[in-house]
Amino acid sequence: YERIETNKKRHDELQEMARTFNDMMDLLGENYQKQESFVQNASHELKTPLTVIESYANLLRRRGKERPDLFDESVEAIHEEAIRMKELTQQLLTLARRGETWDMNVETVDIPGFVEEAAGSFEKAYGRHIEITIIDPFSMKTDRAKLRQLLYIFLDNARKYSEDDIHIEVKKMEIRIIDHGIGIPSSDLEKVFDRFYRVDKARSRKTGGFGLGLSFAKELAAVIDAGIRIESEEGMGTTVILTLSEFSFSSRTLKEKQEER
Ligand code: ADP
Repeated sequence: YERIETNKKRHDELQEMARTFNDMMDLLGENYQKQESFVQNASHELKTPLTVIESYANLLRRRGKERPDLFDESVEAIHEEAIRMKELTQQLLTLARRGETWDMNVETVDIPGFVEEAAGSFEKAYGRHIEITIIDPFSMKTDRAKLRQLLYIFLDNARKYSEDDIHIEVKKMEIRIIDHGIGIPSSDLEKVFDRFYRVDKARSRKTGGFGLGLSFAKELAAVIDAGIRIESEEGMGTTVILTLSEFSFSSRTLKEKQEER
């Protein structure tokens, strides 16, 4: 589209309309581009496992009967890729439905109790030990389910990108998730919040990531007025600092927040 330019002196009103039009087009253009690259990325991520499945299925069809040794390898690979596709479609569905989940459910949450409960179920699910240090215990008004989802995204990353115990520190209005894993190079720190961004695709592929976790975390955090900071050193480990603020309906309306997204 072409930007509308008006003669300043003549039509103030027209100028105002032109500005609104230009703003609208900028917004539309940006969203359209984002959506297009999202669909491209998602399709690409789905195509990769499908290609693997297809070629192993072909191999099985041609030589499966005479080469039983190929059988196990192929079935294993097909199964693994199918799981990966299932995970991605699940994450895509969560993203697509996220608009519905923005409704707030605010209650007073005792943060140490909450962290212990969430970490406990994470430990059970993944068999990884989580060390919790409560420096300043506190309670706050927030959306428990969203905070839990956030904590899970960070714990899941700590689990995927480190092998030792994971630490959680609770300080005044802060939850820190600390790991001593592979870390993030400083040049990538900004980008890890972008959708589908992974520091090292080959490395992350083995751990099953799609690069969607942190972008989702950023949106979730905005909804509950939390901030996310990541400090990391390659080869040393990563600390995710979640800064919380008490939720108040008066600060910004949900509609305003939705419009921001
Ligand atoms: P993924 O599903 O790939 O983990 P995320 O959006 O959660 O997607 O993270 C984006 C990328 O940031 C990851 O692929 C990884 O390279 C890097 N990353 C995130 N958390 C950590 C961490 N705790 N340690 C090392 N790298 C991390």
